[in-house]
Amino acid sequence: MGEIKKVLIVGGGIGGLSTAIALQKKGVQTEVWEKNSEWNVYGVGIIQASNQLRELGVLGVADECLAKGCEFPGWRFYNAKGDVLTEVPTPRADNYPANNGISRRDLHQILLDNSIKYGATVKMGITFSKIENREDCVYVESTEGTSGEYDLVIGADGVRSQVRSKVFGNEYQPNFVGQGGWRYPMAKPEGLEWGGLVYGEKNKAVIVPMGPDSIYLTAVSPEARDAHMPEDQLHELMRDRLKEFGGMVAELREKIVDPKQVVYRPYEEILMPSPWYRGRVLLIGDAVHSSPPQLGQGAALAIEDAVVLADLVAREKDIDRLLAKFMEQRIERSKLVVETSVNLVEWEKLDWEGKLDPNINPSATFGQALKKMTEPILQKETLEN
Ligand SMILES: Cc1cc2nc3c(=O)[nH]c(=O)nc-3n(C[C@H](O)[C@H](O)[C@H](O)COP(=O)(O)OP(=O)(O)OC[C@H]3O[C@@H](n4cnc5c(N)ncnc54)[C@H](O)[C@@H]3O)c2cc1C
Repeated sequence: MGEIKKVLIVGGGIGGLSTAIALQKKGVQTEVWEKNSEWNVYGVGIIQASNQLRELGVLGVADECLAKGCEFPGWRFYNAKGDVLTEVPTPRADNYPANNGISRRDLHQILLDNSIKYGATVKMGITFSKIENREDCVYVESTEGTSGEYDLVIGADGVRSQVRSKVFGNEYQPNFVGQGGWRYPMAKPEGLEWGGLVYGEKNKAVIVPMGPDSIYLTAVSPEARDAHMPEDQLHELMRDRLKEFGGMVAELREKIVDPKQVVYRPYEEILMPSPWYRGRVLLIGDAVHSSPPQLGQGAALAIEDAVVLADLVAREKDIDRLLAKFMEQRIERSKLVVETSVNLVEWEKLDWEGKLDPNINPSATFGQALKKMTEPILQKETLEN
């Protein structure tokens, strides 16, 4: 099979746009189809751990992210009263900062602007109506009535991927893990320089710097699978999840006043077994590996997928070998993130029930996983060139 020159990416999220930048930089003609007719990126932030920044550096956009965001060296652990328990600096990948907190909207704009700058075509309000693997291409029909042939189609359409359902059937679906996360953007308290992980008896609070003057506060709580959260009460429900906390969290809790600014998400996980491709259709990002955000590594994995894929596209002309190598390079790291995140959730739930085995050390597991994620992802040949 021949070389990859023309690619369709379904989904214009972090994974899809990063892949568009990475492929365009290797000279591949890339189209992104986003089903929403307007971008609706929600108004809180995201943690960019050092390994994510390193791969954004490969895409040439790390400096823009650092300019918009707020660097922080690691995590301060607090008890519910607000006493500092310990301080854990997080590891650095190459010379990148340990962490950068950034608004999701700023990150999206940077990825979108750079996709277009490098020559990708980004179309809104469009998706596929037909995807068919053929001998040497993928034939795709769109909801606009157009059709085309591509050397590769990439499903980067998130945890409820329709490309996944279309190509692999409905066997693989995300599982709810018994927790939900409530996030709210607010002004940065004076002197805040670290991320905060605050452990209560029933809930956890997470404080993340997001920009020079802003943070977002997260409440993590045990929740029921199909809990109905009335939209006009989200602020009260989030405050309720934080009522056991004193100290800084108690002060921040009082700023949660607007239900429209609360972003609630049930936490889910999915790890699709290898291979993530059939014929010339490949899935990346949350479509194949999505986890509760205990490690803050979901977007990092999606961006890594983009970088590894583009590197292989430039070096490996046989598509079967290319896709097999992609799987070899991606499956173990994805497994590490999803499995560790799910374990951390289970341990938090046990802790809240007073049943956590005292021999288990979640903060050590957290640190080891982040350290592992700073290991290089590109193969030796590429790093040496
Ligand atoms: C509560 C929470 C906190 C998180 N915090 C962090 C963090 O701090 N750090 C971190 O690294 N990660 C974090 N993550 C994970 C991160 O948000 C995801 O891993 C990342 O957004 C995945 O990107 P993606 O492009 O694969 O999917 P998505 O971001 O879901 O993007 C998919 C895109 O595809 C579009 N789409 C869907 N279906 C179709 C279709 N049929 N046709 C065309 N387009 C379609 C969607 O509209 C969307 O634009 C967090 C996740 C959650 C839930």
